[in-house]
Amino acid sequence: MCGMTAKKLSSKDYDFINDDHLLGMLLRQRPDAVRIREIIAKSLAKEPLTVEETAALVMTEQPELVEEIFAAARQLKQQVYGNRIVLFAPLYIGNNCVNDCTYCSFKRSNKEMQRRTLTPHEVREQVVALENKGHKRLILVFGEDRRYDPRFIADTVRAVYATRSGRGEIRRVNINAAPLDHEGYATIKEAGIGTYQIFQETYHHRTYAQVHPANTRKGDYLYRLHGLSRAFEAGLDDVGLGVLFGLYDWRFEVLGLVSHALHLQHHYGVGPHTISFPRLRPAHGVEVDPRHLVDDFDFKRIIAILRLAVPYAGLILTARENPEVRRALMAFGVSQIDAGSRIELGGYTEVGDAQVMEREQFCLGDIRSLDEVMAELMEDGYLPSFCTSCYRSGRTGEHFMEFSIPGFIKEFCTPNALLTLQEYLEDYASPGTRTVGEALVAQELGKLEDSDFKKAICGRLADIREKKSRDSYF
Ligand code: SAM
Ligand code: SF4
Repeated sequence: MCGMTAKKLSSKDYDFINDDHLLGMLLRQRPDAVRIREIIAKSLAKEPLTVEETAALVMTEQPELVEEIFAAARQLKQQVYGNRIVLFAPLYIGNNCVNDCTYCSFKRSNKEMQRRTLTPHEVREQVVALENKGHKRLILVFGEDRRYDPRFIADTVRAVYATRSGRGEIRRVNINAAPLDHEGYATIKEAGIGTYQIFQETYHHRTYAQVHPANTRKGDYLYRLHGLSRAFEAGLDDVGLGVLFGLYDWRFEVLGLVSHALHLQHHYGVGPHTISFPRLRPAHGVEVDPRHLVDDFDFKRIIAILRLAVPYAGLILTARENPEVRRALMAFGVSQIDAGSRIELGGYTEVGDAQVMEREQFCLGDIRSLDEVMAELMEDGYLPSFCTSCYRSGRTGEHFMEFSIPGFIKEFCTPNALLTLQEYLEDYASPGTRTVGEALVAQELGKLEDSDFKKAICGRLADIREKKSRDSYF
């Protein structure tokens, strides 16, 4: 286990991940079908699972029971989130890095990586390109470097919000960057960020030490583990957890994620807003150790079990995965995806469709345009959404509201998804996507009972089409 560190961890400064305890759970006797069904029933009643209950799902190997887990995840996703999928894009701001994570091409020992930090002008150019495609939600991604201090991150966030192109604007900026101290989070909060994401990468202490050299900032397991606790203590509202699957046994990592979610819920009264589950990808200058790579079937189990174990959290499936995998796995609990993503620095204006390994962090699996992804989602019966209403109306922890307030989806989420989709169809969609989209909007309206509220939604949709009204939300 990690030793004490001089830096302030959080007000609850203990190590809440006990490897032996979690590994022990995975060695117990396999639970029987009755127990698994009880656990599934608890989750379908929208109760978060304990780590022990999650371990029971993780250990389930009987094909018919695994199928029941998949079916339950599908049902819960439909019940809680409906058919909406929220869309966003990543924007890489700088790839200088003082760390040496073995799996990442931005590591300091990779001398062939082309290092670059976008200038304020370049940030604006990238944002304009993203807005011109129709994006409204971004996640800004940073290496860890002295120059990416909280003030720099906050200024970049402000520059993104201030950049407008035509009817385009960015309405929510999330961050994926190194863990900060309390003061740093407070500085960033002032710029008005959405979610702050920190992936623990692996919860397994020994593996963590192997992939993050001890003489690097990231080598401090506990400082990272408490990163999101400090974020809450500094006043941030939404935080995102994640594991880089492929570094260690996925079964253990799922228990680590659930332990972390329960820790936050217990001490801060709020669990993670989102959970991410990137799978290790080939990357320039990186030799991938194949021992713990996760195949597609186990990946589907990870998503389904996380859906059941932490039913209130948004689940993010990124463009690291190829289109076929994304399409197949979406139904098992995913609520957010990125689309039209480019992860080379300057990639939205400079490199076209080619992926240049010396310029990017890893190789993407899905480089389709936002418009193509939108069309496929809608053909598959999903309702794409760019909604940012909760965050902007002060209703933070939006997934908890969807989850816990009866009627919330009908009153807010679906109408706002329709309004933001209609804006997209008017301003950015190709003719084919627009046709599919118009049919979907009509179909969704057809599902609503006649009421004054339905009239209000129809009125606002007409205003978007005819009066060019924008940014209307409930
Ligand atoms: N530098 C910050 C950090 O490490 O927390 C910010 C984010 S880093 C640029 C974003 C995430 O990319 C990492 O947390 C890691 O999970 C993921 N990543 C790194 N190398 C990867 C690879 N080869 N394949 C897939 N994901 C990778
Ligand atoms: Fe740096 Fe983050 Fe890559 Fe590690 S994962 S080398 S900290 S950018």
